[in-house]
Amino acid sequence: MIVESNVPLQPYNSFGIVARAQHLARITDEADLVALRADPQWRDAPRFVLGGGSNIVLTGDVKPLVLKIEIKGLRLVEDSPRAWIVEAGAGEIWHDAVEWMVRSGYPGLENLALIPGTVGGAPVQNIGAYGVELQDRFDSLDAFDLETGRSFTLDAAQCAFGYRDSVFKHVRSGPNDFGLSGRAVITRVRFRLPKPWKAVVGYLDLERKMEETANFTPSAQDIFDWICAIRRAKLPDWRVLGNAGSFFKNPTVTPEQCADIIARDPKIVHYPMDDGSIKLAAGWLIDACGWKGKSVGNAGVYERQALVLVNRGGTENPVTGGEVMTLAKAIQTSVYERFGIRLEPEPVVV
Ligand SMILES: Cc1cc2nc3c(=O)[nH]c(=O)nc-3n(C[C@H](O)[C@H](O)[C@H](O)COP(=O)(O)OP(=O)(O)OC[C@H]3O[C@@H](n4cnc5c(N)ncnc54)[C@H](O)[C@@H]3O)c2cc1C
Repeated sequence: MIVESNVPLQPYNSFGIVARAQHLARITDEADLVALRADPQWRDAPRFVLGGGSNIVLTGDVKPLVLKIEIKGLRLVEDSPRAWIVEAGAGEIWHDAVEWMVRSGYPGLENLALIPGTVGGAPVQNIGAYGVELQDRFDSLDAFDLETGRSFTLDAAQCAFGYRDSVFKHVRSGPNDFGLSGRAVITRVRFRLPKPWKAVVGYLDLERKMEETANFTPSAQDIFDWICAIRRAKLPDWRVLGNAGSFFKNPTVTPEQCADIIARDPKIVHYPMDDGSIKLAAGWLIDACGWKGKSVGNAGVYERQALVLVNRGGTENPVTGGEVMTLAKAIQTSVYERFGIRLEPEPVVV
């Protein structure tokens, strides 16, 4: 394995931000990680793990050694009466892996089609869309501990999945703390796809598709195709208009806080949660503050969905990470001033 120097990262992040990695190693299997740890030059060097770069904001050149995860492989590891267990290398493109599973007759992840990024990046924020979260179809994962040089396996409980959250987003701050951010490299993920397969179609957009097509018993392939069509119509293609998907998490509030906001803004989009809290649509809050279509430098708020911040400068004059974060902070301030709610960014700021 060769460690490359001064590597442009613009092709490796979905915002299309210009930045360079001082050093970058392409990790194609676990042996590459073992070799790096054995090399005195890299053994103790700080590192940054890069998947598909679809959930990051680069605010400058990356000084830590970039580990670009390119571990491949897709296979059925178990076919029991209760589930298919499919294993995927962390460097597989997420959408391609989902498509392969649906086409191969292992359905269950079709609602998560067309989410950019890699298989290894998916557990980090427990990706979710259209009524399914990664944790609903998760079996276990293998990871490599950069501190100890050991490999280990985690089940769902050990991953501590939450809403756009997992143990991989937290830094270990004490002996009883299990944060693995900056420490664990996910190398393989196994999915548990329950039998019999059941369609998840409780979302308005999917209900509309059923009405439109008069198909009320869709197959996994139908749902896969519908999700792709819905997402293409709603979200900008990051290859054309750089972005990192939803820029803020949907905040949760107490019923009292929600009632207070409804009294002032009766149209607020909100969803009751199983635990009694209320989830608010962050996009609606941003839109209500008048941000849709606005820009700061080359960072803009997407005209059709206020939750998506976009690169208005293309590849020629691309947005900077600084512009994205200035816009994000201005949005946070106005939402806080109007609603008293602090929006939390979803992407990782590097
Ligand atoms: C147009 C668009 C739409 C999107 N839609 C959705 C959506 O519907 N739902 C949703 O949840 N997300 C969505 N996202 C966000 C993003 O696609 C996901 O979070 C994705 O899983 C990120 O994967 P990645 O490989 O690109 O990770 P990266 O952006 O490369 O990295 C993100 C974080 O994960 C860490 N990481 C990456 N790979 C590994 C690994 N192998 N081991 C350990 N740590 C790792 C990185 O260090 C970093 O901290 C969208 C993004 C875009 C651009």
